[in-house]
Amino acid sequence: MENHMKSRRSFLKKGITGVAGLSLFPAACQKDRGAQEQGAREKKVVTRTLGKTGLTLPLVNMGVMNADNPNLVKVALDRGIVMLDTAHYYMYGRNEEMIGGVIKDYPRDAYVIATKARATTVDRHTRLETEDVQAETFESFIKKFELSLLRLGLTYVDILYLHSVKSKEDAMIEHIVGAMEKLKQDGKVRHVGLSTHGNEPEVIRAAADSGFYEVVLTSYNFLQAHREEVESAIAYAAGAGLGIVAMKTQAGVYWDRERSQRINMKAALKWVLQNENVHTTIPGFTTYDQLEEDLAVMEDPTLTPKDKEDLQLGMDLKFDGLYCQQCGACLEQCDRKVEIPTLMRSYMYLYGYRNLAAAKQTLQSLDMPAIPCERCNPCLVNCSRGFDIKNRMVDIARLKYVPQDFLV
Ligand code: SF4
Ligand code: SF4
Repeated sequence: MENHMKSRRSFLKKGITGVAGLSLFPAACQKDRGAQEQGAREKKVVTRTLGKTGLTLPLVNMGVMNADNPNLVKVALDRGIVMLDTAHYYMYGRNEEMIGGVIKDYPRDAYVIATKARATTVDRHTRLETEDVQAETFESFIKKFELSLLRLGLTYVDILYLHSVKSKEDAMIEHIVGAMEKLKQDGKVRHVGLSTHGNEPEVIRAAADSGFYEVVLTSYNFLQAHREEVESAIAYAAGAGLGIVAMKTQAGVYWDRERSQRINMKAALKWVLQNENVHTTIPGFTTYDQLEEDLAVMEDPTLTPKDKEDLQLGMDLKFDGLYCQQCGACLEQCDRKVEIPTLMRSYMYLYGYRNLAAAKQTLQSLDMPAIPCERCNPCLVNCSRGFDIKNRMVDIARLKYVPQDFLV
């Protein structure tokens, strides 16, 4: 069985002894203390195995999507986080480049890299990306992945996900599956997976039945109205030997657009980890304080009475929150067929994560010249989370006018 944790421990140990000479303490004393501290940390970190991949990972890893600070990534690795999760299109490629700049200083077996590619076309002049599963070819998918490797400075990644899969048909597009298989055969990808944040139960079950995918990255959190269906699909896939990674664990981060009411992030993350079929999580922290919170959960995921109380607040729907379930219940209600769930995801990226680039990219992924809501009165949509859809749509539409150069 592979054990990145073992490699990580020896690397960290080297780091601790390496700085002993700079200390005011005698070197021997410092070394003993370092060993004790390291021993305590080793005892505390809880790990699970990512299904049949055999990867042993801590309960909490890093979703790097919103982070542009290489020092934060470095500190995360130095404090015991092992897996860095990125994607080909995050920050127009700069996210992978930033990670590449950090990991070049670490031994290859001290970290796990997961990246994602999706079936899209990119306009070479505007750099805008449009989801188009039919336009993506075997060759273009491989070329896209090769560029990810180049940015990361790697010869292989540990996990390649087919990104943002929404149906069982999209999970099994023949030439995309063929491209991923080829990359695996060539040793450029160790394990293949798919990611999903809409229609998750169908997609997770399709992955489990495929005999191809080894890992599923899925949205899973305490605010999901359909969480029981997601749980059942997760159990099915874990039972079939797939590794399960959870994302969107903190359900939009804030309860309100003004960011005055923050969700209890530790509690939300702990809630996910109560499900033992979830092997690890990738919360998207961007500050050192948030990193500390996540590290505390990594060591002890026990929910306290206060945690449960805080989460109940959301389950009682006292706030609308920023997290769109991606349930699709709105789609049939809008007679103009606006892709509301994708726009609401963009809204969460903007107000929950403060990630303008991701919000704009998500908005641009839609083949939609204009958002028609301004001229539509009244809005016919009754959102299952109680969102004021029209207001949010008009609000997020303004992002179209933010110049591209401002974001990259
Ligand atoms: S906007 Fe509301 S109804 Fe539509 S997918 Fe999101 S939560 Fe569901
Ligand atoms: S206002 Fe409501 S019904 Fe009208 S286009 Fe927008 S989402 Fe659809």
